[in-house]
This record gives sequence, structure tokens and C-alpha cells, in this order.
Amino acid sequence: MHNHHNALGLAAAPIGSTQVADIAKARPAQPVTLIRPHAARRAARFFIEAFPGRSLYAVKANPSPDLLRLLWESGVTHYDVASIAEVRLIARTLPDAVQCFMHPVKAEEAIEEAYFQHNVRTFSLDTLDELEKIVRATNGASDLNLCVRIRVSSDHSKLSLASKFGAEPDEMKALLLATRQAADALGICFHVGSQAMTPAAYHEAMERVRAAIVEAAVTVDIVDVGGGFPSVYPGMEPPPLQAYFDVIARGFESLPISYSAELWCEPGRALSAEYASLLVRVEKRRGDQLYINDGAYGALFDAAHIGWRFPVKLVRAVPSETRDMAFSFYGPTCDDLDHMAGPFLLPADIGPGDYVEIGMLGAYGCAMRTAFNGFGAVTTIEMADEPMATLYGDSEERVAPSHVVTL
Ligand SMILES: *Cc1c(COP(=O)(O)O)cnc(C)c1O
Repeated sequence: MHNHHNALGLAAAPIGSTQVADIAKARPAQPVTLIRPHAARRAARFFIEAFPGRSLYAVKANPSPDLLRLLWESGVTHYDVASIAEVRLIARTLPDAVQCFMHPVKAEEAIEEAYFQHNVRTFSLDTLDELEKIVRATNGASDLNLCVRIRVSSDHSKLSLASKFGAEPDEMKALLLATRQAADALGICFHVGSQAMTPAAYHEAMERVRAAIVEAAVTVDIVDVGGGFPSVYPGMEPPPLQAYFDVIARGFESLPISYSAELWCEPGRALSAEYASLLVRVEKRRGDQLYINDGAYGALFDAAHIGWRFPVKLVRAVPSETRDMAFSFYGPTCDDLDHMAGPFLLPADIGPGDYVEIGMLGAYGCAMRTAFNGFGAVTTIEMADEPMATLYGDSEERVAPSHVVTL
């Protein structure tokens, strides 16, 4: 990655001294992914030090091998994987990592390969059918950690994960009792939905876990509170993560489980959002619509399909003196769906040839790029400057005000 400076014809600046404006000056014709390893390290250190249990990284949020290696170096030893391709990726990138196969619906072949070839011992499930599948595929193994996924509310989250997976509370007793028979360690897991805007989401979920444990009267060894930890976006400024951790710690302490029980979490977004941003070029302006060179089939899937608003910043040698106005974006493909409604606030005199940095795309952004319509090629440059917003600075400067638009 260190040679990418040359790809843009920039003078060989030492890593870390490059400014976004210098990159724009080289006038790249393709989008540029700006990665900030220091921001991902800071996020990982925060979880490792402050979360009152073990933090697994949810690989789907951003499976970049560079990111995986730096999370590992920062102390993240466990990885939440959802497919056999993710299992193989972690096995070859981080051979000593512990993998937890937390997708509750798996191919039997995937379970078998994960168990016998990649030493995976932890699996989740939400039905008796899946339990039987795991027992069959592992040949009745006696060293399994099995986590039963309970359905919880996604009401406090921006992205629901409530309708697809999770056993209903009234199915939990039978499922916990059967799983206890097959498991060496028995866990309960849940996911409150992505970008949970209040710690209350975890409090309510923990109450469901408590009820399930009491009703089934089983010994539970692992409580896994899943992902859902938020990042900062325009119009979405959550309370500090410490408030989430405090609620989870209190909920965990009050569960009827043994002192040796473990608490786990599986952050994806919170560990990766600040890792990457994107520098795009405006190719055309039509009124309040900007035609940019990345979009719904690139790193802006969430901006297009769920109307997510990312922070934006005009990158120009001489700053604009016009006031901001609201724009929407069109991406580069020939498809009308390649549209990001925003609103994105940018100076009123923005036009073709201008560059815009779009922030907070390290989670579910850069990872979702396709090559549809011949677009999708990007250059990657490592930066040492601050991401456009952060959840990990001093509370005073959590959001850099000049960069983040709030409506
Ligand atoms: C997607 C997912 C995560 C990560 O969720 P975030 O909201 O990105 O933290 C964790 N666990 C499971 C099972 C998931 O499906």
C-alpha cells in the first residue's frame, strides 16, 4: 500500500505527512480510499481496555487484511465470522486467531470444514435443526461452545437485525436444554441491530436473556451481547460508548450465572467506521445534484439504499467562501438507483472538477464495493490525520465541528 503515493504521481512524501488536499492536487480520476490505521488502533484499544469482557471483531463490517492485521496487533484475538470464505480469510491472515462462527444458519459443509480444518469450536444457532446440523457436521464433538441466539428488539437501532434471526423467547427453554446436552460451553447471544442509538437497547436485551435463563434453569457459560455499538454520523450522535459498557456490565452482573461465566461482544461498525474515508470527484452538477465518481455500487451502498448520511467536506486548495447548501449525489453507473439522497451540505459554488471527502466509510462502505458497469477501481492511501468524526477522542472533541454537518 505504501507505493500508492506513486500511483497518483505524488512526490514520495513520508507516510503520514500527506494531506487530503495534496491528494486532490494530483487530480486522481478514480475514487481514492483514505485509510487511517491509527483510528482503528485507537478503537481497538478502547474496546480491549474498557469493555468489561472479551471483544470479537465482526469481520463482515470490513474484511480488509490490513485492518485485520492491525486489530490483531492491537489485541483483538477473537473474530466473529459468518461464512466459510470469512473462516478461510481469517485462517490465512491471522492463523493464531480464535474464530467464532456466529451466523445462525450455516451450510453443513461449512461447519464441517470450519471444525475439522480450521479449528473452529464456537457456533451459534437459533433452531433445533441447526443444532442437529452442527452435531452431525462435527461428528458429535464434545468440545463445542454453542451460543443460542435469542430474538431481541431492534427498536433502538438504525438498522434492524430483529426479523431474520433469533429464537422467540417462548422457544428458548427447549432450545437451551437441548443445546446444553450437546455443548461443552453453553452461550446465549443476541444482536440489538446496527447503530444502536441508546444503551437501553442492551438493557432490554439483557432482561430477555435473564428471563430465558430463569425459565430454562440451565447453566450458562457465555453471554454474547453481539454488535450494534454505534459510530458518529451527521444527525446520529450517540452517547459515549462507556455508557453502553456500563449498562452491559450491570446487566451481566445481575444475571443468574456462575462467576466463571464470560461476557463477549462482537463490534463491527464501532471498530472499523473511522478506519476509512473516500475522496471522490464531481464530474457534473445539475442544480442541487452532484454526479460523483463513486456510488451505490461502490462504497456508498448505505447512503443509497438506507439513506445514511455520511459527513462530507469540500477539498480545495483555496477554501470556498460561499455558504453551504443541500446536495444529493448520483453515482457513476448508468442506473437510476445509483442515487444518494443525502442531504449532503457543501458550499454552494461546488462544481465539476471539485473533490469531496466522504467520511466514516470504514464499516459497511469500502467492504461492499462492486465492479458493476466497469467502475469500482480505487487507489488506497494511508493517512495520519484525524477521521472526520470520532467516538474515541476527548468527549469535548468527539465530533470535529468544522467537518460534520448537523441538520
Ligand atoms: C453484523 C453482525 C455484527 C456486527 O454488527 P455491528 O452493528 O457492525 O457492530 C456482530 N454480530 C453478528 C452476529 C452480526 O451479524
